[in-house]
Amino acid sequence: MSRKSRLLVVEDEEPIRVGLEDLFVFHGFEVETAADGPTGLAKALTGTFDLILLDLMLPGLDGFTLCDRVRAQDRSQPIIMLTARTADADIIQGLRLGADDYVAKPFSVTELVLRVQAVLRRSGALEEDLALIRLGDLEVDTRNLTGRRGSEEIPFTRREAAILSYLAAHGGRPVSREELLTKVWGYARNAGLETRTVDIHIAKLRRKIEIDPGDPRRLVTVRGVGYRLHTEDP
Ligand code: CA
Repeated sequence: MSRKSRLLVVEDEEPIRVGLEDLFVFHGFEVETAADGPTGLAKALTGTFDLILLDLMLPGLDGFTLCDRVRAQDRSQPIIMLTARTADADIIQGLRLGADDYVAKPFSVTELVLRVQAVLRRSGALEEDLALIRLGDLEVDTRNLTGRRGSEEIPFTRREAAILSYLAAHGGRPVSREELLTKVWGYARNAGLETRTVDIHIAKLRRKIEIDPGDPRRLVTVRGVGYRLHTEDP
């Protein structure tokens, strides 16, 4: 029998925390919980979790800071942020800090379980994908999330590596934002905000892989279609 997936739930509202614990135990997870930021951080840094479900507003230490500190130690740690429904700017900032996904409260438990399973599938599936991507003088190893250009080392987030893997695996075919949201993010369908999420990640990727991010030659926009990755030299 395969090992149970380990989940850390950091949530200060007791009914939600207990509800999440029950829900994921029911779905076969091993669940640990923390009711405040400092406890959550301590557990995240000392334990081994397949995924962290992280509330944004927490006593002692907010979810953004916690996410940041966890990423500083292990940038591949899968994290899903739980946010207030209207927190548009917060969501964007959370994604910038590298959360793998976010779920707005109040959430449907079915949706949350699907999102968790999608993130876990991707983090496991990533190893099966194209491991090494060559982009001119830049070589990106998507397993250890590191790019090398000469002696320069460039860190990539798990999400960025997954985008590159997906585009590289499609050999120069343009891929739509909707397809990226479905295949890389695991969304069932897109919304305006989520399409913008793709663009934000593409912009971040260009700053890492392009010689001139303002004039991209590798990760190009195909007008009205989406994005294409050129792995061959033009
Ligand atoms: Ca809270």
